[in-house]
Amino acid sequence: MTTRSSDIEKAAGVLRAGGLVALPTETVYGLGANVEDPAAVARVFQVKGRPPSHPLIVHIGSADDLGDWVEDVPATARVLAERFWPGPLTLVLRRGPRVPLEATGGLETVAVRVPDHPVALALLSSFGGGVAAPSANRFGSVSPTTANHVRAELGDAVDFVLDGGSCEVGVESTIVDATGETPSVLRPGGVTREELEAVLGRPLAVHSTSRVRVPGQHPSHYAPRARVVLVEPEKVVAEAELAQELGHQVGVFLPPAFAGTAVKAHAVVEVPGSMAAYARGLYGFLRRLDERGCDLIVASLPVEQGLGLAIANRLRRAAGPRPTE
Ligand code: AMP
Ligand code: MG
Repeated sequence: MTTRSSDIEKAAGVLRAGGLVALPTETVYGLGANVEDPAAVARVFQVKGRPPSHPLIVHIGSADDLGDWVEDVPATARVLAERFWPGPLTLVLRRGPRVPLEATGGLETVAVRVPDHPVALALLSSFGGGVAAPSANRFGSVSPTTANHVRAELGDAVDFVLDGGSCEVGVESTIVDATGETPSVLRPGGVTREELEAVLGRPLAVHSTSRVRVPGQHPSHYAPRARVVLVEPEKVVAEAELAQELGHQVGVFLPPAFAGTAVKAHAVVEVPGSMAAYARGLYGFLRRLDERGCDLIVASLPVEQGLGLAIANRLRRAAGPRPTE
């Protein structure tokens, strides 16, 4: 996958003019706007259908620029940025004056990261500023991991889609609150808890609820159209076949231990044994089952270690209560 430098220049121009650019990152595709342009940021919320109280992540081109966007950089944040940037780690820090409150949902903190994707880094370098970018999907739905996912979901609402191929990591960044003495994980993601703990030299709390607002913790997020039901791995086949018999169009996430098993269901996804491959494929699998017309997806949770923690978090959220329920 090669992206032409003329496309990078065009995308940077769109950002400078106050437009919206969908950009590839190693986690998922983002819907980017110049963070310093409140009208452009407002359009991001409008296009996503996201409540304006839900803060965005500010993407910057280099860890060296962190001080331009935050009030101060505590020692722990510095250590994490040095070790994990560019990469799928977002640091929540105290907001600097260049970040308008529109981008932080009115919070005095700001989430910042340096993405590990050559196209995103080229865009950030050419643009020169910070890019506020949530995932490029409608609020609550499955995040896009290809440019085609973005086009299918947002169409003309985005001024320019930069195609950088499929996202390597496939799930969103890990969000760490680094404002206080003791950092904590607000959302598990592409950097594992174990990797963070190894660098910090101490156990890290993972908060399912926190004093800051994180939409990834509300009921039903990262959700396909089909309802998602989670069962024990050894019950997946039986539950799927029962629901199919009852008249559902069932999509199955077949656990690796059952690979090759014939399942009487509408569509089957064989879950990869490697957590990295599972994370990379997760959102594409959910989209595929929607496209196949499934109304119910039967899945199980992976062991919650390494990337399994983020995958389980997204599956739980996908299975969460829908707004209409
Ligand atoms: P998304 O919009 O799907 O890319 O998700 C962005 C994530 O970053 C959301 O879960 C936000 O709530 C989170 N986030 C952004 N800014 C902050 C902040 N200041 N404090 C806590 N979480 C934040
Ligand atoms: Mg999102």
